[in-house]
Formats: sequence, structure tokens, C-alpha cells
Amino acid sequence: MTHSHVPLAGVIGNPISQSKSPILFRHWLKTYGCKGHYIPMPVEEGNLEQVIRTIPKMGFVGCNVTIPHKIDVLKIADLATDRATLIGAANTLIFRKDGKIHADNTDGYGFIANLKQGAPAWAPSIGPAAVLGAGGAARAVIASLLDAGVPEIFLSNRTRPKAEALKSAFGTKITVVDWVQAGNIMEQASTVVNTTSLGMQGMPELRVPLDGLRRGTVVTDLVYNPLKTRLLIEAEAAGCVTVDGLGMLLHQAVPGFERWFGLRPEVDINTRAAVLR
Ligand code: NAP
Repeated sequence: MTHSHVPLAGVIGNPISQSKSPILFRHWLKTYGCKGHYIPMPVEEGNLEQVIRTIPKMGFVGCNVTIPHKIDVLKIADLATDRATLIGAANTLIFRKDGKIHADNTDGYGFIANLKQGAPAWAPSIGPAAVLGAGGAARAVIASLLDAGVPEIFLSNRTRPKAEALKSAFGTKITVVDWVQAGNIMEQASTVVNTTSLGMQGMPELRVPLDGLRRGTVVTDLVYNPLKTRLLIEAEAAGCVTVDGLGMLLHQAVPGFERWFGLRPEVDINTRAAVLR
């Protein structure tokens, strides 16, 4: 460890009490016997820049960023990775020794790492992907699927102009499909991803018709509360390979932990159990 003090990191959001990151990081710190602390920090919009300019002076080596600050931190940061710039949001800040704030987005990395772990036979080349939703998470998913080499993406969102905007940003491999037609893209897809908040506790169910799902299609849901959404239950019944959304949350934290605490943590059953407890 190059820092003379015990490294501090944390997560910034508003509210922050729902964040699973403190439990996750503390589990890894304990498991690997690393020196360091990880702290949840509620920060209001008006205080964001002041906070992220101040905490590096107090021993913070970086922080995660969650709702509603993911877009604003990218504007404040001095440098950003290409993937954060492409996605238009950051979830990981690195406080460099020269005082510069470096912004990264690891959501797409977490998404792909989860897919590979949960469906080891998955490969981008298996065919087109169907992506439901065009919010912030969809941007990271689409960027990472294209980066991995998926040949084509069918994108459907309730508010069609948002899907059209993503097509403009990400290019010709994207075909926008009307929300009422979303059921029709299941048959052609080798990978199906729900990036909407539908199916999440307190939200309505995802009602897209799923009878077109084929045996062997890889189906994943970003929603992880509940772990088994209606999408995953129906996909499993149709013989699909299903991957729940918790792993994405765990994997997206790996690069930050490694950077701040000097060791690459494993996402294993104990990690899942710690966060679910
Ligand atoms: P967001 O930017 O608010 O986007 C929400 C998406 O859900 C939009 O596409 C929205 O469609 C759609 N939606 C909401 N209510 C709907 C309804 N009643 N009918 C049809 N579509 C509806 O949120 P986000 O940040 O992208 O997050 C989306 C979900 O992913 C959340 O459940 C979040 O918890 C989850 N997530 C999980 C992870 C993970 O690590 N597993 C990471 C990030 C996000 P419109 O555009 O039409 O409003």
C-alpha cells in the first residue's frame, strides 16, 4: 500500500441508506484482512462538488457514486475513462495523488462479468440481444454489449424517443422496436436483458409477452430485489439460462476495491450471502 494512512473509501448518494455497497466492501475488507474503511455518505446535490473536492484531503482514495449523482460527478471530474464518457455517467471516482479526480463507470464491466459468471457458455457472438429499457442502466448495458462484440441489439422502451436517442448515441447496430411490439423480439434474441425497473419490489410487473423465448437463450434481469423476477421465473420455465441482477452489483464494485485497497476481490457465494443477509 503506497498510502501512509489507512485508506478510506465510501459511497456518495442521496439517500444512501439503501446502498448495499458498505456491506459488500466491509465483507471484502474483513475476508481479505485489508486495512481500510468504507463509509456511506449522504450528500445533497448542492454540496456534491465541495464534498468530492474535500474528502481526498481527509484520506479518501476514492468513492462510489450512486443516484442521483452519477451524471453530475462526470461533469465535475478532471478526467474520465472512455467508457464513462460514452455512458455519460460515472459510478467510481479515483482520487489521484496529483489532486485530480478520475471518473470511471464500471456498471458495464459488472454486467458482462455477471453474465459470464452466471452463464459460462455465453459469448457475444451467439447472436442478437434484446434490451428492454432505455434509462441510465441501459446505456451501460448497451455500451458493454457492443464493446464485447454483440452483432445487433433490439432495443425497446416505453418512451420510444429515449430508445431513439440511444440509437443516435450508439449507432447502427441498434434497432428500435416499439414497446407494444417488445414481445416479438424475444424469438430472435440470443440474449435478453431487462434494464427497466419493472419487476422491482414496489413497481408493476414486466408485462412484455415472453412466449417467444427460446430454449437456451440467456436471460438476465438488472432488478435484484426480488432476486427471481417474473421474467427470470418464466424464462427458466421456458428452458432459458437465467442470470439474476445481484451479481452485476457485486462485480461492478471489484475495480474500485482493487484500486483502493490493493487486492482484487472474488465475487463468490460468500459475497452473495453477505449482501443478502
Ligand atoms: P432509470 O434511468 O430511471 O430508467 C428506468 C427505466 O425503466 C426506463 O427505461 C423506464 O422507461 C422504465 N420504466 C419505468 N417504469 C416503467 C413502466 N411503468 N412501464 C414501462 N417502463 C418503465 O433507472 P436505471 O438507473 O436505468 O435503473 C433501472 C433498473 O436497473 C432499476 O431497477 C435499478 O435498480 C436496476 N439497476 C441494477 C443494477 C445492478 O447492479 N443490478 C445497476 C443499475 C441499475 P421510460 O423511459 O419510458 O420511463
